Amino acid sequence: MNGEVQQFDIVIAGAGVGGISAALAAARLQCRVLLIEQRAEVGGTGVFSSVSLICNFRDSGGRPVTSGIHRELFPAAYTHYSEQMVPTYDERELKATYVSLLAAEPTLSVWTGSSVVKADMEQGRIARLHIEGERQAVIEAKVYLDATADGNLSYLAGLEYRLGREGDGKLQSATATFKVSGFAPALLKEQNYRSWAGIHSLRSELLPYYLALKAENRTSNPRQSVTCFPYPNEDALLFNSTSVLDVDPTEPDSVVRGMEEGGRQARELFAAITGHPAFCAARLDYVAPKLGVREGRRIVGEYELTGEDCLGTRQFDDMVAACAYALDIHNPEGGPTRLESIPAPGYYHIPYRSLIPRGCSNLLLSSRCISGTHEAHSSYRIMASISAIGEAAGTAAAICVMQKLQDVREARAEQIRFVLQLRGQFVEGEVERIELPVATKLYPQ
Ligand SMILES: Cc1cc2nc3c(=O)[nH]c(=O)nc-3n(C[C@H](O)[C@H](O)[C@H](O)COP(=O)(O)OP(=O)(O)OC[C@H]3O[C@@H](n4cnc5c(N)ncnc54)[C@H](O)[C@@H]3O)c2cc1C
Repeated sequence: MNGEVQQFDIVIAGAGVGGISAALAAARLQCRVLLIEQRAEVGGTGVFSSVSLICNFRDSGGRPVTSGIHRELFPAAYTHYSEQMVPTYDERELKATYVSLLAAEPTLSVWTGSSVVKADMEQGRIARLHIEGERQAVIEAKVYLDATADGNLSYLAGLEYRLGREGDGKLQSATATFKVSGFAPALLKEQNYRSWAGIHSLRSELLPYYLALKAENRTSNPRQSVTCFPYPNEDALLFNSTSVLDVDPTEPDSVVRGMEEGGRQARELFAAITGHPAFCAARLDYVAPKLGVREGRRIVGEYELTGEDCLGTRQFDDMVAACAYALDIHNPEGGPTRLESIPAPGYYHIPYRSLIPRGCSNLLLSSRCISGTHEAHSSYRIMASISAIGEAAGTAAAICVMQKLQDVREARAEQIRFVLQLRGQFVEGEVERIELPVATKLYPQ
């Protein structure tokens, strides 16, 4: 090993919504945290794949079942809620929010342009990580968090994982989203296209142009419909409407091929919709720079959450997060999407055990790579739940540091919930009070 080993309390690999939420939660408990991101900037899928929609985080009665840091990221979704309007965000604003929240934490360091490339395991623990890129370093921490979405850190640590659906291992389709502006809302049948009724009307107005493209075999996009969402503060639309099959994020070549194919489909669809009078002067502002890959490794943990748990609105004694979003499987073969709502009361629990990978005592899962089946993953992968999972993982890691626990399994869900609820996060079940560092930030300032 060359050079000095740098020490932290908690090291988090990956700065998407899961990693950032974890980093904020842990740093606010005064831990020395390092957040490492391989891209040049923080944000992950929610910023660089421009996903747009703030997916449902409310139970059947309209009560939020995630709040906490997610509320700091998307405050308007909590204060201006209306069932009629489409709740969306602007990815540039989200990136700015991430940057300012991270910068406000004095015990938090952020290294961008740097990748975790190797994990040394010793006696069932991660002993150290090797970092390459803008920072070349060897680092040690008391607790590590895998927030890489695809379970890359767990993979480097040699842990067990699953990939794709049961049976044939196929993954959900991927999407290159794109932004369109310069259209004329006055020429739409329903001009209020920011309402659900309005966006559905706009989509059906565009559909014939897309179907003509398909009928003439001028696109390989297997989708049957057009999906787009309004930007919140400008006349612009985010199209989540391309579909690329057989993209596997663990095979870099397939992601490169997928980006080429997705970009091609985006340009084909854009050209087709300019046939509509409201879109004849529209602009294709950009195709999102990162291919939107919906699914990657799911690390095998102490509990594997299932589709039956989600649809059965299962409650767990060790719940640390909740999810209200439907099972939403973008067909690996290009057919119709399977969308199944969570029945009343409209949400299910995510247990702490699903954040604990089997075979490692100082690692927690803090992104969509938690332990669950292909079906369950299609639901909890949305940003609201991944933020809540990250906040819970960061809090649990900080408790391990504060209490000098040797195994993340020793952290008590009741104590994790105590801290989460002090911060305004949604929790259910008993809580157990713990002493917190004097300077702990409870509510956002
Ligand atoms: C096309 C598409 C549409 C979607 N639509 C919606 C939607 O409308 N609403 C919604 O809520 N959700 C949506 N989702 C789901 C949601 O956006 C993602 O599941 C969620 O953002 C994932 O967050 P994450 O933190 O787990 O991972 P990510 O945001 O992907 O972050 C992981 C980060 O880890 C980094 N990383 C990976 N390996 C390493 C390494 N070795 N070292 C350092 N860094 C590393 C990556 O660069 C990345 O920045 C959509 C997803 C897709 C693909």
